[in-house]
Amino acid sequence: MRAYVEAGIAAGLSEVGFSVHMPVPIPIAEKINLDEGEFRMYIEKARCLRQEYNDRIGVLIGGEFDYIPDQLPQIERLANAFDFDFRVGSVHFIDDWNFDNPGYLHRWETADVEAAFRRYYHLMAEMAETGLFDIVGHFDLVKKFGHRPDRDVSDAIAEVARAVADAGMTVEINTAGWSKPVGEQYPSEEILRLLYDLGVPICLGSDAHAPGQVGRDFDRAISLARRVGWSAVNRFSQRRTFAEPLPAAG
Ligand SMILES: [Zn+2]
Repeated sequence: MRAYVEAGIAAGLSEVGFSVHMPVPIPIAEKINLDEGEFRMYIEKARCLRQEYNDRIGVLIGGEFDYIPDQLPQIERLANAFDFDFRVGSVHFIDDWNFDNPGYLHRWETADVEAAFRRYYHLMAEMAETGLFDIVGHFDLVKKFGHRPDRDVSDAIAEVARAVADAGMTVEINTAGWSKPVGEQYPSEEILRLLYDLGVPICLGSDAHAPGQVGRDFDRAISLARRVGWSAVNRFSQRRTFAEPLPAAG
């Protein structure tokens, strides 16, 4: 965690936000989320780092929550277990399928791609409707490996966009997608335009899973945000948002 904070300083960021995978029970045995003990350690460590780096960089304490419909009571309990700076709501599971995990890539070969996209966006809309989360994580993650439905699913996307706007959520421009097979940020420019028209605010996320990825491609994300029309970006503190002028790219 210290290496991530140091990387944020090296990248010239004014603050970094941690968002670990929360211990929501998931439908696969693979260990991809923290357990509850690790979560408590995470909070302790993040608080210490926030204190220690106080005069050099802001350290925000967040969490990324899997939206899994039948785990809603557990998700709610975890969401209220700590005074987070922000809660990210994400969908990594289409029912029992961890569709963005390279280990389950083979399931795409036999999947009905349009049905998968529709189910994904339906879960995303439900996630927004819970009202539990502040930030929409990687809005169109379902495209990660480059799959595209044969038929238009923009009605399903519009449903998510409306739910997000109604819930007052912020959408991250997540730069990790540029480094994935799809080669495109999350969400697509088309979706960003839809969100902009609905008055949805943005924030920037690098979805770093290694210190070297902190703040990756933020220049590119800022240029894109400006091109779409945004001139402000949201910052977070204890789940309150503060709009700030979008920094100049570079
Ligand atoms: Zn995620």
